[in-house]
Amino acid sequence: FYATTVGGRSDRLEGKVALITGSASGIGKATAHEFVQHGAQVIIADNDTKLGPQVAKELGPSAHYTECDVTVEAQVAEAVNVAVAHYGKLDIMYNNAGIPGPSIPPSIVDLDLDEFDRVMRINIRGMIAGIKHAARVMIPVGSGSILCTSSISGVLGGLGPHPYTISKFTIPGVVKSLASELCKVGIRINCISPAPIPTPMVLAQIGKFYPGLTQEQIVGIVNGFGELKGAKCEDIDVAKAALYLASDEAKFISGQNLIVDGGFTSF
Ligand code: NAD
Repeated sequence: FYATTVGGRSDRLEGKVALITGSASGIGKATAHEFVQHGAQVIIADNDTKLGPQVAKELGPSAHYTECDVTVEAQVAEAVNVAVAHYGKLDIMYNNAGIPGPSIPPSIVDLDLDEFDRVMRINIRGMIAGIKHAARVMIPVGSGSILCTSSISGVLGGLGPHPYTISKFTIPGVVKSLASELCKVGIRINCISPAPIPTPMVLAQIGKFYPGLTQEQIVGIVNGFGELKGAKCEDIDVAKAALYLASDEAKFISGQNLIVDGGFTSF
């Protein structure tokens, strides 16, 4: 599985077809760029009908946009069908779409359960729909790599609002449960748990909590949170982890949670 590099591209995902939800922005967008750089063809699946097509256009013929709201199962099923129709198959399914939910913690006493349901519908139900429909086309082929984005909010309590934390703690459990079934049919499933990264989602979330702050000050808060000996988490760090787990280099890795936090949750 040694990669070769030709003209800045490498063959680590050569010939693979990937679908990434939530790829119009942030981590998903960075991962789409990384996957294409390494030889994959990528379906940009997102409910943002403005930014999604722009990302696909940036990436050229190796990418195709399809509108997909992960809370609508039929749209998730259709996105998988689009991958197969457009590129002939689906090797990699990255369930990355997610929302932070209500800004910084209301107490459990004040928790709006409709808001809780909304977070779970996107972060968990949407992810399960992605796994289900990817498995539908991967099982007959007997191979595939499924990825999900959890968070260090799924490793330590108290880092985010309760609905988000609860949803992110659920993801490594989903991965374990499904790995036990899917390993018997040649499909791997893993999740990645990043530290805070100043993506649009996080900037908007902190901006809501501290309305007086400038964009620069908000970025400073996010980077300060994750700063360990000068290192801060960037979307490319997650994209590199996804690249490894998606590739055949990780052919015997399944059911795992790869924490991308520079050691933050270790002490
Ligand atoms: P982002 O806001 O930059 O990107 C999220 C994308 O998901 C957007 O393109 C958005 O349109 C899309 N999306 C939202 N709801 C959707 C839906 N119902 N259907 C389809 N697409 C939808 O945010 P990001 O930070 O890149 O977040 C991506 C994932 O990473 C999320 O699951 C998030 O919880 C997780 N995460 C982020 C951080 C961080 O600090 N940024 C840290 C850990 C985990």
